[in-house]
Amino acid sequence: MSVTPAHLRTLADRAEALSAEVRTVCDSVPEESPEHEPLTAARHAADWLARGANDLRSAATDLAKLQAQPCGLPWAVCPEHGNTLSSQAGISTCRVCRRTWNYSRPSQPCPEPVTWKVVDQAGTETRMCDGHVLGARAAVANATFVRLYDGSGAF
Ligand SMILES: [Zn+2]
Ligand SMILES: [Zn+2]
Repeated sequence: MSVTPAHLRTLADRAEALSAEVRTVCDSVPEESPEHEPLTAARHAADWLARGANDLRSAATDLAKLQAQPCGLPWAVCPEHGNTLSSQAGISTCRVCRRTWNYSRPSQPCPEPVTWKVVDQAGTETRMCDGHVLGARAAVANATFVRLYDGSGAF
């Protein structure tokens, strides 16, 4: 059986709905009612379910990243800043964040996950990572940029 991010997100939605339902039940009892006190554990359960929903969403995000296709453009860039690498003596350094790689990163295919679909004027579609899309935005005129993956785990 293989797990998909969508399945985890469905479970997260259910946990969230359940949390909201428990809260509604608890909130229907006024604070001055004798029934308020025994519902303390139920209120904790609502919080716990809400946290569970968040954990499920973050698992979905991590899984989506893992299952994403690598970008694969023939030169790798800084994942955050794009075409900002300088290479010297086999070490690549980003000029913006100073992150280093102990190999010539621009001569390697890009290993970062695909997060964007770029369609140029001629209709040619290229899928690429966050770093590469920065350069594409500057280089490709009149292209359409579609975010495939928004960081919240939703495609
Ligand atoms: Zn950088
Ligand atoms: Zn890339």
